[in-house]
Amino acid sequence: ISPPDSLVHAFRAVAAEHPERAALAYFDGRLSYREVDELSDSVAGYLAARGLERGDRVAILLQNSPHFVLALLGAWKAGAIVVPVNPMYKSGEVTHVLRDGEVTALICSDRAWESYLRETVAAVAESGSPVSIVLTGCELDFQTRNDARVLTFERLPQAEDADDLVAVARQGNPAPEGRDFGPSDIALISYTSGTSGAPKGATNTHGNIMSNAERQRTGLRLPEAPVYFAMAPLFHITGMVCELGACLNSAGLLVLAYRFESGVVLDAFAEHRPAYTVGPSTAFMALAAHPAVTPDHFSSFVNISSGGAPLPPALVEKFRADFGPYIRNGYGLTECTAPCASVPQDLEAPVDPVSGTLAVGAPGPNTVVRIVDDQGEEVPFGEQGEILVRGPQVVPGYWRRPDATAETFPDGELRTGDIGFMDPQGWLYVVDRKKDMINASGFKVWPREVEDVLYTHPAVREAAVVGVPDGYRGETVKAYISLRPGAETDPDEFAVYCKERLAAYKYPRQVEILPDLPKTASGKILRRELRSRSHDSE
Ligand code: ATP
Repeated sequence: ISPPDSLVHAFRAVAAEHPERAALAYFDGRLSYREVDELSDSVAGYLAARGLERGDRVAILLQNSPHFVLALLGAWKAGAIVVPVNPMYKSGEVTHVLRDGEVTALICSDRAWESYLRETVAAVAESGSPVSIVLTGCELDFQTRNDARVLTFERLPQAEDADDLVAVARQGNPAPEGRDFGPSDIALISYTSGTSGAPKGATNTHGNIMSNAERQRTGLRLPEAPVYFAMAPLFHITGMVCELGACLNSAGLLVLAYRFESGVVLDAFAEHRPAYTVGPSTAFMALAAHPAVTPDHFSSFVNISSGGAPLPPALVEKFRADFGPYIRNGYGLTECTAPCASVPQDLEAPVDPVSGTLAVGAPGPNTVVRIVDDQGEEVPFGEQGEILVRGPQVVPGYWRRPDATAETFPDGELRTGDIGFMDPQGWLYVVDRKKDMINASGFKVWPREVEDVLYTHPAVREAAVVGVPDGYRGETVKAYISLRPGAETDPDEFAVYCKERLAAYKYPRQVEILPDLPKTASGKILRRELRSRSHDSE
């Protein structure tokens, strides 16, 4: 039998086969596959009755909650394209997405609607791209215990200009007919997380999502009815595909906990005993630094993965020594619908002996990775060049951006903008982003290599390295560091430490200690922000 060609089809098949199996857990609340199916049908029926047409865009600004899942499946069942939006976006960022995506329906929390989205939507309507349907919900509705550890959410009175998501889900509307789609139809417009430039919408198709959800289901060897913990946010492609997509496609239980908060995450691990989770490396750094963490918290995991950001080898080793599990690296971009390379379940990623970089994994099924030089010629094993990816997870392009699409996807192959190399065994290594290279007196310095060394220092919690303008060298290397709890050191010590371990042109000439490093909502350290900070202080 061929695998389902969309997540909705896969989900419906599971709901038909295991209707009473738990699909979602949210603090003390649970919803079965049957309930999620019926509630999302009702959302779909409502959207269609309000005039939403096939292919219309529905923006969802919600945290990791059952509401997110009901909104997503409801919109897809109504034939819509979903635009997941980071709920931490400010008005200007939301405006860009609503306009660029020509969004007609918005599903958000009632707090966000009251505090800024009502005004944002009104301003967008004035400029001619009106949002005509608004659904709001309180994301702790499904919680039966009023859990003060998390947040105390008060249900706001229902706004007059919006309908209530949960009430709509409970209306019992049938899903509309004739809204089905095929694998090449667009499922999502994912605005890239914005560590560089203005966000562009990558058009992930239903087929793109399914190819990676299938690969996760078949590749991870999880137990029957596996428990997934959603550590990455669902609005980011990693959470959407590797957590939600893989879980629903595997008839598993998805544990949701609103947003990343180390103590809450550890409690959820203890309570639900998950087999799988994925997050950026910064999440593992935060968990490792929590005062209550014990090896027991991780004893149920079959697979723990890190994705979407560099993974320092020192963190992997320390995590294994202190807590037991081996963190699996994975490499992906929004443009390839989360992973395109990962570490197979029965192997460990090698560390390159020359650069000290940990391999990100091996390309997935039907995925071809090539490394090319500036002329577009393939380079031999071990040599660095730009990483290009072709495969079933690569999106067809950017939403209504033919120029950017032609530039980034010549001939359908994704130009990642990352520099990397392959070894003869087929392992892929990511050196760094092409645009983050530091040019110090004509010498190339890759920030990652310096960061990896800093992470071996016992006092370092987080490290980021950027190039800053320098009258003599053109650019020089600067390190920003946040310290582990209780650590006390002189910033100069880090420069000396790196100098002993790296070529002279690579060690940071400047070091600044910050309480925390700036991050995207998906947990990636924002080098761009640190760069502009150092420019501002010039
Ligand atoms: P923007 O496109 O706006 O700059 P972004 O690139 O952060 O945002 P994503 O698609 O979430 O958006 O991130 C993909 C990038 O993350 C990759 O191009 C790569 O630079 C980095 N990355 C992902 N996984 C890894 C990994 N395992 N090791 C090193 N870097 C990684």
